[in-house]
Amino acid sequence: MNYWNEKHTYEDVALVFSRYIKNLEDREKIHQAYLYAETCHQGQVRASGEPYISHLIEVSYIIATLGGGPSTLVAGFLHDTIEDTGITFEDIASRFGEDVAFLVDSVTKIRRLSRKNDSEFVAEGHRKIFLGMAKDIRVIIIKLADRLHNMRTLQYVRKEKQERIAKETLDVYVPIAHRLGIYKVKAELEDLSLFYLEREKYLYIENLLNDSQGERMKTMISLQKKLADMLMKTNIPFEITSRVKEIYSIYKKMYVKGRKFEEIYDIMALRIITETELNCYEILGLIHSIYKPVPGRFKDYIAMPKPNMYQSLHTTILGNDGNVFEIQIRTKKMDEIAESGVAAHWRYKEGGKYDAKQEQKEIEEQLHWFRDFVSYSDSDQSNEAKEYMDSLTHDIFDANVYVFTPKGRVIELPEGSTPIDFAYKIHSGIGDSMVGAKVNNVLVPLSTKLVTGDIVEIKTSKSSTGPNESWLNLAKTNNAKNHVRKYLIKKNQEFLRTEGIEKGKSILVEAFKENGVHEREIPNYINEKFINSFSHTTLDDFFFGISQKNPAISTVIDKLNLKDSKMSREEIISSYIKRTNSRNQNKGSQAVIVKGANGIKISLAPCCSPLPGDEIRGYITRGQGIKVHRKDCPNIQNEINRTIDVEWNPNFLLSQFPANLIIDSNDRENLLIDVMNVLSTVKVLCSHIAAKLHPDTLTTTISLTIQVSSVSNLNYVIQQLMSINGVYDVKRVIK
Ligand code: MN
Repeated sequence: MNYWNEKHTYEDVALVFSRYIKNLEDREKIHQAYLYAETCHQGQVRASGEPYISHLIEVSYIIATLGGGPSTLVAGFLHDTIEDTGITFEDIASRFGEDVAFLVDSVTKIRRLSRKNDSEFVAEGHRKIFLGMAKDIRVIIIKLADRLHNMRTLQYVRKEKQERIAKETLDVYVPIAHRLGIYKVKAELEDLSLFYLEREKYLYIENLLNDSQGERMKTMISLQKKLADMLMKTNIPFEITSRVKEIYSIYKKMYVKGRKFEEIYDIMALRIITETELNCYEILGLIHSIYKPVPGRFKDYIAMPKPNMYQSLHTTILGNDGNVFEIQIRTKKMDEIAESGVAAHWRYKEGGKYDAKQEQKEIEEQLHWFRDFVSYSDSDQSNEAKEYMDSLTHDIFDANVYVFTPKGRVIELPEGSTPIDFAYKIHSGIGDSMVGAKVNNVLVPLSTKLVTGDIVEIKTSKSSTGPNESWLNLAKTNNAKNHVRKYLIKKNQEFLRTEGIEKGKSILVEAFKENGVHEREIPNYINEKFINSFSHTTLDDFFFGISQKNPAISTVIDKLNLKDSKMSREEIISSYIKRTNSRNQNKGSQAVIVKGANGIKISLAPCCSPLPGDEIRGYITRGQGIKVHRKDCPNIQNEINRTIDVEWNPNFLLSQFPANLIIDSNDRENLLIDVMNVLSTVKVLCSHIAAKLHPDTLTTTISLTIQVSSVSNLNYVIQQLMSINGVYDVKRVIK
């Protein structure tokens, strides 16, 4: 088992990387890095007494066997220069480029943190390693190679250090290698750690393996031959290899799960490597037709890959001699991923446009867990290092849910996430315009906790009011919470403006009343010219201005000269007539104008309840004057002959019109109270309200009639109603 004492030369490293790095300039650059490292570390020796360069050669050799590209290999040779020699970041950057300097710098930072010898450093090291990884996966590959070689040469350091390093390796590096699926490195690190932490048990298991080896080999070879005979008769390409379970996993089965050595089935497993996925299933079928599979031991990781991308078929069969064997069936590509994990994807490819960033992104997408981990590490600065250590396994490695978009894309979220987290994870625009969510095709409240396997569909609407305060409690991820907060700040500004307009309006009405002018006469005084004279362009701006004392209401009243006006009644009437005549219009108190038809009785149709801002048509009734409908009201569509052009009186202000609404909501307690509260907050009168529960869908329909001043006023009210928790649709309706 002394595979950790191999010694290599630079030529060995070059032999490995030359298989996939063909560019001569790149090869030369790596050679230069080797020569430069040798010069820089001149005179330094390892604890083993060997020159320091031996470590750098071995680290780079491991990187090369994982398929590392030129920058990674160069950085492999230089990874200890900043810390152990006088070389600086700038030296490396000018000689080998910024990319390499960045890699060396990142490795150095991780190493400095590991220096501290307490439990703090382990957890802190964890975090920094992951943070480093967040920036570039190559940093972790270098760090893993570095640790692997240090573990291989651990015999030369003193005992306390051996135990500390071995423990850190198990706690920190093994999980990372596992999560990245780099099985080769993971298995070796585990065995090495065990060797230093539980020497006696390690040697005991090693002896058991050696003693039973002869017997095991005999049965194995016999099975291998039978399988080969069987497969030869088909046209399926295959290759059979066998592997011995590593000591650490046997140790776990024996000492953690309490099994006896003889009870461990898969100490030796046969592996059949073939070409296509279909071949894998064909081979499995053939094996099962001849050997009896052990129930419950078949695993299809091809259809359901592990999160670290591992794919394979596993089955355990009962041999004719009563022995039990595990057989793994996979394609060549799957085998490569099983051994090298993320490195198999990351593996340097020459020729095509190599883009480290793009490749990194692809890897992150392959590893579901990756991205959330990164944001977790970034945001969670306050956690005690120790606490972090305790929660690491649970929070990061286990407590994630995997849900699907309707198109089958996998989205990973932390446990306890709701549709709000899902929506914002897909796109902030989707979160902001969300009006409801379906989980597995059923409409659900936004507070629903998602579980693995859920298919989540987000309902969006252009007229959505966007997120509200309560979403902050429903969202689990910081990503969603931050977006909601951002949105609320923006919306609050809009809300303040609407409130200001209303406030300015009522200040004006009040002031006019005090000066003996009735509300309905106000339009006669406030016209465009008057508004412009205060540097406002629209009526809303003017009202909002008044609420901000710009202008102060006293200034407005003074300018109109109302207080001092001692006009006679006749004068007032004549000026009134003059004003209305000069506009060549109906009276300002009429909401709708019919061109060229003064004195006709005009009323608003109750079916569609038109509001200022709606497109409208007049309908000439028989004997009841003109009824004004919305242009699209179905009740007048077949009556074109009896309709005439009408328009809203632009001078008719400050009045209220009825509007009919339907609210669709998930049913919950206090829903109606919340609706009424919102209406009172926006100062809207409600003249009718009725609710109907649909028990089969657990939804409620509320119909109501409210009093509003215009279409934009109504839209604002609808927005506010949409922000009520559970409400997913608010529609204006025609009765
Ligand atoms: Mn090193």
